[in-house]
Amino acid sequence: MSDLIAVSDQRERILSGMRPLTAQHLPLTEAHGLRLVEAVHARFPVPPWDNSAMDGYAVRFADVAGAAADTPVTLDVVADLPAGSGLDPALGQGQAARIMTGAVLPTDADTVVQLEHTDRTDPHGALAATVTVNQPQTHGRHVRSAGGDMMPGDLVAPAGTYLNATALASLASTGQGRVGVHPRAKVAVIATGSELLPPGADLARGQIPDSNSLLIRALARQAGAEVVSAAPVGDDPAELADHLAQVEPLADVIVLTGGVSAGAYDPLTRVFAGSEEVTFSKVAMQPGKPQAFGRYGGAWLFGLPGNPVSAWVSFHVFVRPALQLLHGAPPDVVLPATVPARVTQGWRTPPVRDQYLPARVRPGADGHAEISPAARHGSQSHLVASLARANGYAIVPGHIDHVEPGDIVEAVVEPGGHL
Ligand code: AMP
Ligand code: MG
Repeated sequence: MSDLIAVSDQRERILSGMRPLTAQHLPLTEAHGLRLVEAVHARFPVPPWDNSAMDGYAVRFADVAGAAADTPVTLDVVADLPAGSGLDPALGQGQAARIMTGAVLPTDADTVVQLEHTDRTDPHGALAATVTVNQPQTHGRHVRSAGGDMMPGDLVAPAGTYLNATALASLASTGQGRVGVHPRAKVAVIATGSELLPPGADLARGQIPDSNSLLIRALARQAGAEVVSAAPVGDDPAELADHLAQVEPLADVIVLTGGVSAGAYDPLTRVFAGSEEVTFSKVAMQPGKPQAFGRYGGAWLFGLPGNPVSAWVSFHVFVRPALQLLHGAPPDVVLPATVPARVTQGWRTPPVRDQYLPARVRPGADGHAEISPAARHGSQSHLVASLARANGYAIVPGHIDHVEPGDIVEAVVEPGGHL
């Protein structure tokens, strides 16, 4: 037991040496899913101009102060202002301008009369020379004030903000075209194993489909990284060394699967035997015990166990937090959020090691999340076909020896997964 390292210690070893990737300035169109390096303040007021909230007529309130059904007021229409118009027509006493939603309010106007309060209710009608206001008005009605949402210099988004759809819209509206962000980590994926064939290929005796290349590639993309290569290699150490040398210049992070234990043909252990840069550890988790981590040239290297369930769990527990850190995530979101979930179907857990069980998490009757194992036939790490049912995992500490219906366990919903 003593040679087992705790999950939290292994993660600390990994994260403590990492720093966010050097900032780049990118157009907003390329910044989706990245994080801001520094706080952004508004360049423009939002809205940028006093403008109309309605299709109607821009007026001087004094002219229509007495308007009502039985005392209608007729004004001369001297201009037409669609959204985008740069005109600022002068309005004298008794004059109005037709105005569409979003168009800038003329300097001389202070109020917008909506179409429905006039005799010109057809929004598509030709511009008429006069308009009659036939309902009472209030001063300043239907005017959106410049800066009503934000003023220049106001904080739009703090450093570390994740640029989702709403954050991007907000940055664009306040005058940004480019932003300083931590770039996407470039990830190379290498699945090792002489038994691997491309998905869809027919199998000769001993061969299996390579599911890890797809798995890790998709997980890396979900974590916001850019996958620069994803190819399987056989168990020949020379072939692996060759491939590593090829991808290293392209990658910030290299994720390998398979070949990390002490098997006679495990290529990763053989390539890095005696290395001071790459460490092989036994981590107190199930699945995912054998792990490799270190530096290879200019890249971080992760060696995950080959069993697909182990690789999936290991990615979530070690690689995803590392990518989060490289992408500039604040410390409190580097690790995934856990939710308490009520167990609906029990399972067995290993002694000593923490268990990471692929699971189905869903909303329960009383507002509690509910959780059950994804695999019908147990929790072993080779049950890759059942992984499709998992949208997250349970974390069961090593000192708990079984989990029963009604127990509450910590659950993680896979980012991008759904409750
Ligand atoms: P290893 O860690 O190389 O000893 O592999 C452990 C188990 O995972 C073996 O049964 C492998 O056949 C299987 N395995 C390894 N790599 C992959 C892969 N890329 N796709 C699917 N299964 C794999
Ligand atoms: Mg192998």
